[in-house]
Amino acid sequence: MSTIVDSLQAIQASIVAATVSANRTDKVHLLAVSKAQPSVKLRAAYLAGQRLFGENYVQEAISKQAELNDLAIEWHFIGPIQSNKTALIAQHFDWVHSVDRLKIAQRLNEARPENLPPLNVCIQINSSEEGSKSGVDIGLQSMLAKDISAMPKLKLRGVMAIPAPTQDFAKQRAQFKIVADAYKNLQQQGFELDTLSIGMSDDYVAAIQEGATIVRIGSAIFGSRT
Ligand SMILES: *Cc1c(COP(=O)(O)O)cnc(C)c1O
Repeated sequence: MSTIVDSLQAIQASIVAATVSANRTDKVHLLAVSKAQPSVKLRAAYLAGQRLFGENYVQEAISKQAELNDLAIEWHFIGPIQSNKTALIAQHFDWVHSVDRLKIAQRLNEARPENLPPLNVCIQINSSEEGSKSGVDIGLQSMLAKDISAMPKLKLRGVMAIPAPTQDFAKQRAQFKIVADAYKNLQQQGFELDTLSIGMSDDYVAAIQEGATIVRIGSAIFGSRT
């Protein structure tokens, strides 16, 4: 488990360095993406100070949450959302990054338990021309943002995207800029947003250059998924 602690510290230092070189003084939050990793690894990361964890599969996440219920983890759901899973997501998570249609938002709002604070949500934006399946098409995010803002059990925090992977740093930045522009556009329309969820293990430095406030990092912390 010492490798998890080492990787976590290295990523944290690298995030700080990227933030400084982007001339930013705000904080970039690290979401540890723990899908397909056993709870013992999450516990090790927690003991090293990590608090935000991201999961893609509802059932897998719920079993790990039960094993880790002695820890004060903030749970983020980041995977594609099937409508028959919205109730479990609304009950078991603090954040959802992958809201991409009205029906899903409505179902999350209806299922969010009264005794919990509003569910923090991001609108997933489809920024890539390669036709990645998930996310609202660029340009249509304002309508969904307006609808979500009227839902009492949801709190709209920002936008999320997963651009097509590329090793080319300039291309990474160009793709993230499209998302960052959509985010700023929503802010200019008056939506009070504080979350730009972009950047993964292979492109988080470019994402931070473009204004990421949360980077979602899995394999660079936990190693490859089996
Ligand atoms: C798996 C996943 C990540 C983390 O990917 P890594 O390349 O392992 O850092 C981030 N975001 C989403 C939505 C994912 O599904």
